Amino acid sequence: MIGKNKIKVGFIGIGNMGWPMAMNLFKAGYDLTVFDLDKARSESFSVECGARSAASLAELGVMDFVITMLPDGHVVREVLMKTEGGAFINNAKPGCVVIDMSSAEPTGTQALARDLTEKKVTLMDAPVSGGVPRAKLGTLAIMIGADDESVLAAARPLLEAMGGQLFETGGVGAGHATKALNNLVAATSFVATSEAMLAAKRFGLDLNNFVDVVNVSTGHNFMTDKVMKDHVIDEQWATGFAMGLLVKDVGIANELIDAVNMDAPLSRLVNKRWQQALDQKEFSADNTEAYQVWDALQPE
Ligand code: NAD
Repeated sequence: MIGKNKIKVGFIGIGNMGWPMAMNLFKAGYDLTVFDLDKARSESFSVECGARSAASLAELGVMDFVITMLPDGHVVREVLMKTEGGAFINNAKPGCVVIDMSSAEPTGTQALARDLTEKKVTLMDAPVSGGVPRAKLGTLAIMIGADDESVLAAARPLLEAMGGQLFETGGVGAGHATKALNNLVAATSFVATSEAMLAAKRFGLDLNNFVDVVNVSTGHNFMTDKVMKDHVIDEQWATGFAMGLLVKDVGIANELIDAVNMDAPLSRLVNKRWQQALDQKEFSADNTEAYQVWDALQPE
């Protein structure tokens, strides 16, 4: 088997998640080259660990694997097909595998996979859950959508360097569908938990005590366990997950619900509630700041 230090991996998008994920690949011994629109970010990553920072997307064409960790599927398509006059796709060597680990819209991913296949580049999706803390630990949950078993087998060791649990969810696009629906559940539980906490506060209950009770009771969820105390009650608002990105995911999940033609009133309402929060905040605001908006909307 070819050694990891001989496998060339390009990583595009050295953001909140991409940085620690790329770092885990570098530590695992892959021959890593990074790229980001924000050159200062990719260059400081390079200075920190010694991985190469690419000056142009053309340099990523010679990689065995290219990982994208970008804001959404539109940006992924733009970067792979159009940026710098199509520098990546025009220089991509046949057999190159792109692993899109961003959270993206599944039918867009399937269309991009078809377009890349024409250039003998294979696309698989492998979005993640677990946030910045688990990205740093290399224990992300990874939801894999892949059409080709042998490509998946070759990519698995890279994914294992970043993830703790890998799930095969189906063909290309299935990972992105799974991810959007997971985030719909998470976004719904944040709305529900926020409303319960706002009611608790108005009734005069102590919020830390309330969350302690829920955490050992049937209302227990990820938000009560990991988010509400540190980020909302302590007013840190610093999960590292932008509100704009979460609202994008809730939108993707609602489009998926439309596509499968079903009645889902709660999902519509959750989408509306998050949109309302984003209307009052910047795209880059921490997603937990939605609590402030919903608090301010309450009558005196
Ligand atoms: P981020 O905004 O911190 O990082 C995105 C990076 O992509 C930035 O460094 C940005 O400069 C770069 N970028 C943007 N446009 C580019 C372009 N055209 N070319 C090259 N680079 C470009 O976002 P993030 O929080 O790291 O999230 C990345 C993806 O992961 C998103 O799809 C998000 O929904 C998903 N995600 C985020 C989290 C989280 O907790 N932050 C968790 C799971 C999944």
